[in-house]
Formats: sequence, C-alpha cells, structure tokens
Amino acid sequence: MADSSPPEVVLDCEAGRRMGCASFCCRLLVRLAPGEKPPTGKLPAERFVPKRDDGLCEHFDAASGRCLVWHKRPEICRKYDCNEHELLQVVLREGFTTLSALVTSQARIPAECRRFVPYIKTGA
Ligand code: SF4
Ligand code: SF4
Repeated sequence: MADSSPPEVVLDCEAGRRMGCASFCCRLLVRLAPGEKPPTGKLPAERFVPKRDDGLCEHFDAASGRCLVWHKRPEICRKYDCNEHELLQVVLREGFTTLSALVTSQARIPAECRRFVPYIKTGA
C-alpha cells in the first residue's frame, strides 16, 4: 500500500555542511526527553548524551562528519533547526574549533547578512 503520509520538511544538512556549518549542532548539549531511550547503550547520567574530549557528541563520526545513529537520533536532534540559532551565523562567518570559543565569541552578524540552510522535503 502506498504511503499517504505528507512529506516532512527537514533541514538539508548536506547543504549546511557545504556552507561550512561544521555540524556545530553536534557540539551542543543533547538531552533525551523523559522516557526516551538512548540511540545505543544504557541511559546516560541525567539523560545527557555524552560528549567526547573534542566536545563532539559520542555518536558523531569525525572522519565522515556524520551522525552514526542518524535514523535513531534523539528527538531533540530531529527537531533542532539551526536556522533559528544565532550561533550558526557565527560559525558560518567566523569558524570555530571549540564550543567554548563559539559561545564566547563576540561576533555579531547583521540580520541582512544572515545565511540560511535550505530545507528539503522527504517522503514526497
Ligand atoms: S542541523 Fe544545521 S548545523 Fe547541524 S548538521 Fe544540519 S545544517 Fe549543520
Ligand atoms: S545524536 Fe547524532 S545528530 Fe544528535 S548530536 Fe549526536 S551526532 Fe549529532
């Protein structure tokens, strides 16, 4: 039977990476929703998905620049829209190497200079 569910609009993360987003979202804190199961392994302390020493999520593959649990990534990762996050503009404009450097940056990007990661439809 054909799937009649409407197409889902999601961020085109491939385009975002080409624009230089550096997958910065995978450096942010990721907390599982109450009752949500972790993508792999045991429930982490306080439901926070652990970070590695380099500040990236433990599920991020630095070699490929991709999430290793993409199809079962946490709900917050699915809902996150970096276009609504001012820090994305700092990343695109300034680049960064650590989350600390990112959040302490004094860079301010004028609204007229903002760049947006495009959206794509899936399941169409
Ligand atoms: S959500 Fe945004 S920052 Fe994260 S990988 Fe996609 S385009 Fe890049
Ligand atoms: S689970 Fe995947 S999408 Fe979510 S922060 Fe970790 S690597 Fe990124």
